[in-house]
Amino acid sequence: LLDKSSELANQRLVLGGVPIGEEPLFIAGPCTVNPQNPQLTLETADAVKSAGAQLLRGGVWKPRTMPYSYQGDHNALEILIEAREKTGLPLVVEVMDEEQLKIALEAEVDVLQIGTRNALNYSLLKAVGRLSAPTRSWILLKRGRHMADPDEFLSAAEYLAAEGNPRILLCPRGTMPKLDGYRNHPDESITPLLKERTWAPVVCDPSHSTGHASYVPAASLAAIAYGADGLGIEANVEPRKGIGDDPKQALDPAALEKTIRQCRALWNL
Ligand code: PEP
Ligand code: MN
Repeated sequence: LLDKSSELANQRLVLGGVPIGEEPLFIAGPCTVNPQNPQLTLETADAVKSAGAQLLRGGVWKPRTMPYSYQGDHNALEILIEAREKTGLPLVVEVMDEEQLKIALEAEVDVLQIGTRNALNYSLLKAVGRLSAPTRSWILLKRGRHMADPDEFLSAAEYLAAEGNPRILLCPRGTMPKLDGYRNHPDESITPLLKERTWAPVVCDPSHSTGHASYVPAASLAAIAYGADGLGIEANVEPRKGIGDDPKQALDPAALEKTIRQCRALWNL
């Protein structure tokens, strides 16, 4: 269904008011919503909107390497819903199991994120594809960190489409083993290989691919140069007050605004 030869290939796709392929899509927001500090997320939502982002991301439930790290909190979803009401920005939220999926669908989360660790969780892929089929939700599927090539990534995405929801964004986010000194092996360069095979939009995540705010602007431009349809960028009004990846990875509003502006300029060259 996701092949270029599919009849679905001819649809015009619009997400967050953005006609895909005609202008770049920008998703931005904190890695993780801090439930103790709603103001930080509400201010960040305003700031990413002013910087030019059309969708707001934020982690409610988090897949953490250590079981003792912050795991998430239902209240974080309430904060994001308030931010959506105030800014009008559609929401991107990761779900890791069916219970979270149901809560997210109940809240009419606009884009359901499947994280890198669950990109090969076929039961979750099937559940997300099936339960989101009758809703208006999109799915942002991160590339599995050990996925070798476009075919493996596209096969996982096909599970979602096969269950009834082909509104999929493919999200390269870096692979393992990590390279040089980056958090992962940056993989913005897979974009043209994906786009040769599929009509599904490609939205790169330079925040997780590089793992450090100072490298995100160049990786963002690289992704656009490689033909990405959009970007997902971690951003926070005060990265140091953020939790999860934000202290290291999040762009501040000025850096986000500059990156979006430069990416738009490159897109239009
Ligand atoms: C995230 O988007 O914050 C996240 C956990 O992403 P990934 O699954 O790519 O690590
Ligand atoms: Mn993160």
